[in-house]
Amino acid sequence: MARILIVEDEARIASFVAKGLRAEGHQATVVADGPGGLDRALSGDFDLMVLDIGLPGMDGFEVLEQLRAQGSRIPVIVLTARDSVTDTVSALEGGADDYMPKPFRFAELVARVRLRLRHAQPGGEAGARDAVEAGGVRLDLRTRRASVAGHEVDLSAREFALAEIFMLNPGQVLSREQLLDHVWGLDFDPGSNVVDVYVGYLRRKFGAARIQTVRGMGYRFLSAP
Ligand code: CA
Repeated sequence: MARILIVEDEARIASFVAKGLRAEGHQATVVADGPGGLDRALSGDFDLMVLDIGLPGMDGFEVLEQLRAQGSRIPVIVLTARDSVTDTVSALEGGADDYMPKPFRFAELVARVRLRLRHAQPGGEAGARDAVEAGGVRLDLRTRRASVAGHEVDLSAREFALAEIFMLNPGQVLSREQLLDHVWGLDFDPGSNVVDVYVGYLRRKFGAARIQTVRGMGYRFLSAP
């Protein structure tokens, strides 16, 4: 069980996150403004903070800046607008440990929370990863950079998210729905062929044989094609 501080002014999102984290066995406290969030984060009473960017009083960047300036090492997961690369980069440079693009699926947030809590423990579990690597493809999960055989390749935020779910589940068949949910969120048209289009982009960048089509089921990433 961890004590988690949620700083989010949208009541609907805050309560969804708090309820979910409580169901996972954590203690969750919600604060709806920047100065209040900073105060509570500095109290030392929390193990992790989920921090929104757009907040009344003081935005998430400033909360983060002041928090780090005052020496707090609390792990922070920032909630950013999907595809706002500027926000993401600023948040990571400002001392965030991770970020979650909105809208997100709860399962994704839980996975990030788990990972960051493990990192925070001294001598944390060896399985906690900052990078995944398989068959010469390497993804740095913190800087969101990718390389193939040591050469950096440019991936868009969505290509990266797609590559990430493939490489975290090597050899497993992932359905279009799973991929769509993970990368595009729940509000995307399920009839769209966007998954197939993006798999095509990744094949071009990683090598065509790397991602296998499993007819009628979906796709699978092969570590050793
Ligand atoms: Ca907000």
